[in-house]
Amino acid sequence: MIDLRSDTVTLPTPRMREAMYRAEVGDDVFGEDPTVNRLQEMAAERVGKEAALFVASGTMANLVSVLTHCGRGDEMIVGDRAHMFLYEAGGASALGGVHVRTVPNQPDGTLRPADVEAAIRPDNVHFPRSRLVALENTHNRCGGAALSAEQIHAVAAVAHAHGLRVHLDGARIFNAAIALGVPASTLAAEADSVSFCLSKGLSAPVGSLVCGSHEFIAEARRNRKIVGGGMRQAGVLAAAGIVALEEMIDRLAEDHANARLLAEAIAEIPGLAIDPRTVQTNIVIFEVADPALTPAELSRRLLAEGVKINPIEERKLRAVTHYGIERAHIEEAIRALRRAVVSGP
Ligand SMILES: *Cc1c(COP(=O)(O)O)cnc(C)c1O
Repeated sequence: MIDLRSDTVTLPTPRMREAMYRAEVGDDVFGEDPTVNRLQEMAAERVGKEAALFVASGTMANLVSVLTHCGRGDEMIVGDRAHMFLYEAGGASALGGVHVRTVPNQPDGTLRPADVEAAIRPDNVHFPRSRLVALENTHNRCGGAALSAEQIHAVAAVAHAHGLRVHLDGARIFNAAIALGVPASTLAAEADSVSFCLSKGLSAPVGSLVCGSHEFIAEARRNRKIVGGGMRQAGVLAAAGIVALEEMIDRLAEDHANARLLAEAIAEIPGLAIDPRTVQTNIVIFEVADPALTPAELSRRLLAEGVKINPIEERKLRAVTHYGIERAHIEEAIRALRRAVVSGP
C-alpha cells in the first residue's frame, strides 16, 4: 500500500525505537523526567521561545494554548478553514467557553489584516472581549501553504496593536521553515505562543509541543493538567521526539519535492486539476474536474490499485507525502491515478 492519506501515518524510525527503549525517565508531572525536559528545551530553542511544554497531540497543544490565553466568554479570531475551527471538536468552546469568530482564509492560507482588524470588537458591554488571533502554518486545508514571516507579522501587528495575543498553530511549522528557507524561530517570532507536532512529517509516534514565555508555559502546564494531559514517565515518548527534532527536519525537503512531482503529474492528467505552483510543501489538494467522477469513487478505484488518497471536499482529494514514501512510490501513484481516472467501475 502507498498510503498518502496523511503524514500522521508515519512510523517511528529505528533510531526512535532505540531512543525510546533507552530513555531515562521520571515523573513529568513533578517536572522530573529528564528526557521530557530535554525535549522541551530543544523545542523552545528551535522556535525561539523561552519555554515549552510536551503534550499528547496537536489538538491538545492548541486547546491548552487557547485555555491559557482566553477566559470564558472571550473571543478568538481564526480562519474559516483553520484546523482549530474545523477539526478540533469545538474544544475551545466546549471546554474553554471561548467564543470563536471566523474570518475568511485566503487561498494562500493567510488572513487579511484588514479582516482581522474589522473583527476585533470595541470595548462595549454587549460584546465578547477579543482576546486572541490564531494563525496556521503550514496551512493544512489551504494545500499546505507556507505563510511567510512578513505575512504573519502583518496580522500579528494588528492583533498586538489592539492588545490581542497571537497563537500560531504550527503543526507543520518545520515544513514551512524548510520550504521558505528560514528558521522556524523567524516564523514564530511575532507569535505569543506556537504549537507544533512531532507525529506528522517528523515521524515520532506521539506528541506535540506548546512554546512561549516562561510565564505562559507555567500557566499552560496547569491547563494541561486540567485536560488530563499530565503524562508521568512521558520520557519514553519524548525520546522519539528528540530524534525527530535532530534527524527528521532537513529531510522534509524530500517530501516537498515528491509532492511537487505528484502535483505536476496530476496537472497533466485529463479529468484532474491542480496548479502545481501552489504546492509549496507536502500537501497536494487536487480537484476532480470530470463531473461524472466523484472524489469518493476515485478514492475507491485508487485503493484497488494499492494507493490510499482520501476525498476532502465535494470535488477534491488530498494527498500527503511523508517519510517512508520515496520517489518510486510517487511514480507508482501517478500511474495508478492515470489508470483510475479512466477505468470505469
Ligand atoms: C494535525 C493538525 C493538528 C492537530 O494535531 P493532532 O495531533 O492530530 O491532534 C492541528 N493543526 C493542524 C494544522 C494540523 O494539521
